[in-house]
Amino acid sequence: MLFHCFEQDGPFQQCLTCDGKLLEISDPYTITKVFRSTECVFEYAMCLPCRQKMAAEFSQESQERLNHFYKRNQALQSRSQKLNQSHVVEEWIQECATCQKPLTELAHYSVACMGFGDSLVFDPFPMMICSTCEQDVQERLSKTTRDQWDKFIQDHFEGPPADALKPDGIPLIV
Ligand SMILES: [Zn+2]
Ligand SMILES: [Zn+2]
Repeated sequence: MLFHCFEQDGPFQQCLTCDGKLLEISDPYTITKVFRSTECVFEYAMCLPCRQKMAAEFSQESQERLNHFYKRNQALQSRSQKLNQSHVVEEWIQECATCQKPLTELAHYSVACMGFGDSLVFDPFPMMICSTCEQDVQERLSKTTRDQWDKFIQDHFEGPPADALKPDGIPLIV
């Protein structure tokens, strides 16, 4: 299953930051995975409160730019209409959520899903974003935010994932 933990070979158990047990907490959580040349180089699960806390720490400037980027993005809305309640993960991630390039033509991309208990929450997740669009998002972020992200990676992961992420940067943070 795509959104299982590659390292533990099974479902993700805990939130990366607060260690909350995903099957027991009363909040949804997201699972993010980054693929480079079809190899998963980075993955984590995070509960919604931790995710919101992280986003709130981003500078005001970055938050505004990101909100603008996603609001302006018609692709997300038409995607939601097109898939209309589909519960097939593959349909939601078959093309980049922002530029609509097909997954089959991509080697570098990130996927994210939202879970609640042991089930998936649909629309706008599950989502796939190509590394080109990720870079586009990243360029909208302030230096402070990018530094915060680097620190987050260093605090939670050992060397290789952080290095593997460069230069493509920040995957699917909102
Ligand atoms: Zn948490
Ligand atoms: Zn794209």
